[in-house]
This record gives sequence, structure tokens and C-alpha cells, in this order.
Amino acid sequence: MERTFLAIKPDGVQRGLVGEIIRRFETKGFTLVALKFMKVSKELAEQHYDVHRERPFFAGLVEFITSGPVVAMVWEGEGVVASARKIIGATNPLTSEPGTIRGDFGISIGRNLIHGSDAIETAQREIALWFKDDELVSWQPHLTPWLK
Ligand code: ADP
Ligand code: MG
Repeated sequence: MERTFLAIKPDGVQRGLVGEIIRRFETKGFTLVALKFMKVSKELAEQHYDVHRERPFFAGLVEFITSGPVVAMVWEGEGVVASARKIIGATNPLTSEPGTIRGDFGISIGRNLIHGSDAIETAQREIALWFKDDELVSWQPHLTPWLK
């Protein structure tokens, strides 16, 4: 089953949006596989954003992500990688559609509340970077058949 990596960034935690953000993935119907509240080390932040290492905003991005606790999560479900990116919205919250997390709650590209993997391969790399195998919980919701 497809999985994605999501992280509520320090601004999302500090603005009290953790419950609101998790609710959107939960009520959509995706399944929570892992969740931890943690401070991010500089090493982990740099590895996570390695693809952006040469960009001018890289140092500021690493400084921000390591500035306060984040909520790191793995979610599972059919098409979850692309669907989560839609729920999150475009990178710049000023152009994210209303109804998306960034569109509803953000105004700054450097404070856009949440990270979501951009492809299935990226998700696999990020899940392995942030979580140990035994932190991933495989389970089946016991739902009535017409809900799942
Ligand atoms: P996304 O998070 O939507 O996948 P990117 O992978 O392009 O976006 O960028 C990673 C993160 O770097 C963004 O979420 C944002 O926080 C930050 N970022 C991207 N572009 C800029 C920019 N021009 N200025 C400041 N921060 C940026
Ligand atoms: Mg990205």
C-alpha cells in the first residue's frame, strides 16, 4: 500500500494547528502509520532537504526546521502521495488554493506549515530517513465495508 511522509513544521506546531492539520488527513480516509513529536537535528534537516542544498534559502530553511518541535508522520492509502500534496496546497501559501492547508492558514513561503513528499520514491527515502522500521505500524481499520 502506498505511503507518504508528512511533517508539521515548527510554525504549524506553534500556531496550534496540529489537530486541524491531522484532522484533514484522518477525515479524508487515510490511515496513520507512524507519528512522533520531535526536535529535528541539523544533520537530519540537511539530509531531508538535500535536494535544495544549493538554493539560496537552504540555510534559512534548515535553521527554521530545527528551531522548534515538529510532528513527523507516515500516512497510508491509495494515491496518498499525490492526494496529500493536493490537501497541502502549492508551496507559496499566497497562491495555494483556499481549502488547502497552506491556502487556508499561511501567507509566507518560508512558513508554509507542513511538508509532504512529492513522489512515491521521495516518500520511501523520507520515511526511511525519519523512522525506524519498528516505528511503522501496519494495521487495518475495522470499518464497515461501505466505508472502505
Ligand atoms: P514543497 O514543500 O512544496 O515541496 P519545495 O520542495 O520546493 O516545496 O521547497 C521546500 C521548502 O523550502 C518549502 O516548503 C519552503 O518552506 C521552502 N522554500 C521553497 N522555496 C523558497 C523560497 N523561495 N524562499 C524561502 N523558502 C522557500
Ligand atoms: Mg518538496
